[in-house]
Amino acid sequence: MADIIHLLPDHVANQIAAGEVVQRPASVVKELLENAIDAGATTIKLLVKNAGKTLIQVIDDGKGMSVTDARLSFERHATSKIRVADDLFNLHTKGFRGEALASIAAIAHVELKTKQASDELGTLLTVEGSVFTSQDVIATPNGTSIAVKNLFFNIPARRNFLKSDTVEFRHIIDEFHRVVLAHPAINFSLYHNGSDLFNLLKGNFRQRIVSAFGGKMNEKLVPVNETTEIITVTGFVGKPEYSKKSRGEQFFFVNNRFIKSPYLNHAISSAFEGLLQYGKHPCYFLNLEVDPQSIDINIHPTKTEIKFDDEQTIYAILRAAVKHSLGQFSIAPVLDFERDKNLDTPYGFQGTQTPTPKVEVDREFNPFSKSGTSASTFSKPATQAWEGLYVGLESKSNTDSFSQVKFESDEMTSSIFDDLTERKVQKTFQLHNKYIINTIKSGMLVIDQNRAHERILYEEFLRKTTVNEAVSQQLLFPLQLNFSKSEFTILTDLQQALETTGFVFSSFTIESVELTGLPVGVKESEVQSVFDQLIHDIEHEVPDVNFSLSDLLSKSLAKSLAIKNGKKLEIQEQEYIVNTLFSCKEPSVSPSNKTIFTTLKVEDLDKKFN
Ligand code: ADP
Ligand code: MG
Repeated sequence: MADIIHLLPDHVANQIAAGEVVQRPASVVKELLENAIDAGATTIKLLVKNAGKTLIQVIDDGKGMSVTDARLSFERHATSKIRVADDLFNLHTKGFRGEALASIAAIAHVELKTKQASDELGTLLTVEGSVFTSQDVIATPNGTSIAVKNLFFNIPARRNFLKSDTVEFRHIIDEFHRVVLAHPAINFSLYHNGSDLFNLLKGNFRQRIVSAFGGKMNEKLVPVNETTEIITVTGFVGKPEYSKKSRGEQFFFVNNRFIKSPYLNHAISSAFEGLLQYGKHPCYFLNLEVDPQSIDINIHPTKTEIKFDDEQTIYAILRAAVKHSLGQFSIAPVLDFERDKNLDTPYGFQGTQTPTPKVEVDREFNPFSKSGTSASTFSKPATQAWEGLYVGLESKSNTDSFSQVKFESDEMTSSIFDDLTERKVQKTFQLHNKYIINTIKSGMLVIDQNRAHERILYEEFLRKTTVNEAVSQQLLFPLQLNFSKSEFTILTDLQQALETTGFVFSSFTIESVELTGLPVGVKESEVQSVFDQLIHDIEHEVPDVNFSLSDLLSKSLAKSLAIKNGKKLEIQEQEYIVNTLFSCKEPSVSPSNKTIFTTLKVEDLDKKFN
């Protein structure tokens, strides 16, 4: 078979803005997957070890390469996909710069096996840091396998700069999602450290979304279809009630290419106006087909940004199309002809929601209630009949389990209060449902209620995870939660730590995560958003030497569960916060390092009255 690779003329090469191709393992994943797609593969396997730091391998059944092509493919600006600059504007392939393989081979150990269908034998090539180290004739299946090992082996600074495996793997999954969603007609699988994470069979777009994000996704999707002269929009948006705190599931594909567009994202958000809770983001999977001449995708080296000739019109069409779909959905939610029975939840649960427990433990649960019928979120639960509903309550007195934990601030800080225990007069009040004001000897204390409570909860969770004294409230009926595979991977790392805070899992598999117990004070209705926040925080974790999982977990839970600003607090709630805050180790700053309180001295006030 004829050789098909030619070297780009320099002037063409220079017209292409070369960027840094490889920033992290995920960039390699993207380039290799795209090459396999360009090679016409119908089945693509991705194997990853240690979040790509040790191995990234892509095996495809595409057209393969001749010996010469195989050698040439590692030369910079070697591409079979473009000959002159004009071709840039008529691209139907993913790659065109001809520098991915060259860049990857410069910073890793690469092993290439490839064979064209017309040849009997294939080629094995190994390259280490741009140097060819071996070449052989081998028996290998049609198609190409490229294994990239020890990424950045010769640039220790870059290697050290990589984030934790969790974070790097998250980036890989993000790239994987983008590629698999853009190509539902190709079979994809992903293995990480030997375990099979995704096995996505070819199908339509809806089937692909559901197999990539989990069966529960099916009932969340609202179809969007709009054909106009300048753009065709197809795909799905998530029902408003399934919107999330994190922006994870937001995908635009323009002519089968994933793109990021804050401008178009705004069009979608504005279509959801009035339907979303504050701080939540809609999910969407939208394909936009436009005339390739009317867009410019060639400027950015990672090719995720795009310029449309007529951006405003596209914005308006997109917004209207999504609004229309949401409107239709609310009138006739059952009319969904594309629905695929195979995607529905098995076991006859079709049409029903996740079984919500009908009986709940203490609906009226008020952590601050004086009456004693409810437990306090913060202090030891009152001894009442309902206590029997809980398991795992402390069998020994709190003082025992706390005895190892000594708070430096115990003696130190209590003195700033003006004889706290004996006072009869009200000394705290709330300002603008945001600040707690407290009288102290020297003047007054102004406390940010949200940050103070966050600090209190943070130290409580941290203590629980360290001394293992968590108390759980048992649920009468197990609570079932659903996660996508990637979310589940993150949670798996956290399972143990979560248990130390009081979560009790009765089942922990990708099919179902089931809880039978929650930490005291966590409401059933909050659990999903607590987990969402947690996953979001882990994904955005900036690891440093002091990084610890239980710390991050405690921070995240505290952030989710802390009393928000804007909430009116009863006197005893205010007092609780003030008292507990000052028995914390670090009462002055929130876990995210923000000021919790400030003082206003009488002298300062006096000055104002001069
Ligand atoms: P580009 O994709 O921009 O052309 P790359 O450096 O990614 O540049 O690849 C260089 C060339 O190697 C490609 O143009 C293609 O001809 C060949 N190639 C790379 N990967 C594969 C593959 N999986 N199957 C067949 N050919 C491939
Ligand atoms: Mg390429």
